[in-house]
Amino acid sequence: MPESLPGEDYYRATSAADDYAALAGSIDTGICIIGGGFAGLATAVSLMERGRGDVVLLEADTIGFGASGRNGGFVFGGFSLGERSLVGAVGASDARALYRLTLDAIERIRGRIARYGIDCDLREEGVYLANWFGDQRILDERQRFMADSLGVEWRRIGRADLADKLHTERYSGALFEPGAFHFHPLKYARGLARALAGGGVRVHERSRVLRIAPDGAGWRIATAAGEVRAREVVVCCGGYLERLSPRLARAILPIATYVMVTEPLGARLHGALRTGAAVYDTRFAFDYYRPLSDSRLLWGGRIAVRARAAGDVARLLYRDMLRVYPQLAGARVDYAWSGMMSYGRHKMPQLGRLPDGQWYGMGFGGHGVGPTTLAGDVLAAALCGDGAALARFAPWKLPATGGPFGQLAAQLTYWYYGLCDRVRA
Ligand SMILES: Cc1cc2nc3c(=O)[nH]c(=O)nc-3n(C[C@H](O)[C@H](O)[C@H](O)COP(=O)(O)OP(=O)(O)OC[C@H]3O[C@@H](n4cnc5c(N)ncnc54)[C@H](O)[C@@H]3O)c2cc1C
Repeated sequence: MPESLPGEDYYRATSAADDYAALAGSIDTGICIIGGGFAGLATAVSLMERGRGDVVLLEADTIGFGASGRNGGFVFGGFSLGERSLVGAVGASDARALYRLTLDAIERIRGRIARYGIDCDLREEGVYLANWFGDQRILDERQRFMADSLGVEWRRIGRADLADKLHTERYSGALFEPGAFHFHPLKYARGLARALAGGGVRVHERSRVLRIAPDGAGWRIATAAGEVRAREVVVCCGGYLERLSPRLARAILPIATYVMVTEPLGARLHGALRTGAAVYDTRFAFDYYRPLSDSRLLWGGRIAVRARAAGDVARLLYRDMLRVYPQLAGARVDYAWSGMMSYGRHKMPQLGRLPDGQWYGMGFGGHGVGPTTLAGDVLAAALCGDGAALARFAPWKLPATGGPFGQLAAQLTYWYYGLCDRVRA
């Protein structure tokens, strides 16, 4: 491994940035969206597709700066809340409908990639959920549950067949989600922003919102150098919300997770992976990884309450990678980084409107590419007067997460379940 890693991550190093001017002066608009991650972008795009051009999007840093431009790139069905818990929370029928919305969101993403011509290294090769444990019932039960309760068919892959694809002794089989794919998330985020700008939506980078204040029937949204006066405001700041809205900040836990990317491995990659699919595993504290088109391996995993320096992330994940693929020993790590996710206590997206009228979309956790897209449609519909889809998310409110105590509890939970995984294995 190199002594020092570049400050830039792989995604930034491999996609072209457009430059959107910082907000300056005062502008009036219908809807102001705060946050240029997938939630904010999807809301803006959905509004644009509904014919609403009176939208301004403000991003504190650059488009995709947060989780959306640094994630694993898996695009698959479901939420951060597990399927069994989802059924337990709302019953099989509503759970099935909600899960269906995430599958529709995957189609929506495919559609937007095609419609707006977004070149984002799309890999239509599915996703494996690989079984870390020897107990075959884990996969059998999960497969049956997905089919019977949610109407979703995941293909069962036996140990020998999986060993043809993944050259490791670690797994005892897998479930394959054929409709899932993986992509370069920052290229997609930047492509959406380009589509917005092309469609007349005003996008401003380096425009951190400092204050949201009521102003007659609307809002004044202030940055250091400008102000937006809008009838509606939508807060989509994910795990990077900080102190912008204390009411919303109380309801999420910002949690870090880590990613690294190896050097181009050439033929060595095929000594480990003989598939273009993305892979994660059945542990609570699972690895997630995927081959990149330039023969690098992207590897992610772990959750923690804080971001770490690139070198530390690389060391941790390199160890994790060798536990699965010892044949990659000596592979150089070229990039490593952290990203912050936002979790509500219930692990479901938090979509709605505060009593003072501010709209919000957050709490997508580590399973957010599909759900943010779905959130964009739900929020856009509500902003246009149709709140039916939003009502489906009413069960998941804004319970307090306990701030630093909540973070400590999350870290302990992660360690506890990590220990359970090790005992079980
Ligand atoms: C390392 C990592 C790997 C992941 N892997 C996957 C995966 O493979 N598949 C999957 O489905 N999900 C994955 N996730 C989760 C997924 O990326 C997130 O759930 C999703 O991107 C959240 O989108 P968001 O728009 O809510 O937040 P973000 O993408 O974090 O966007 C929030 C934006 O708000 C901006 N902002 C904050 N404050 C202000 C302010 N005051 N003014 C203006 N702008 C502001 C931030 O700069 C940021 O750009 C992963 C997450 C991480 C961190």
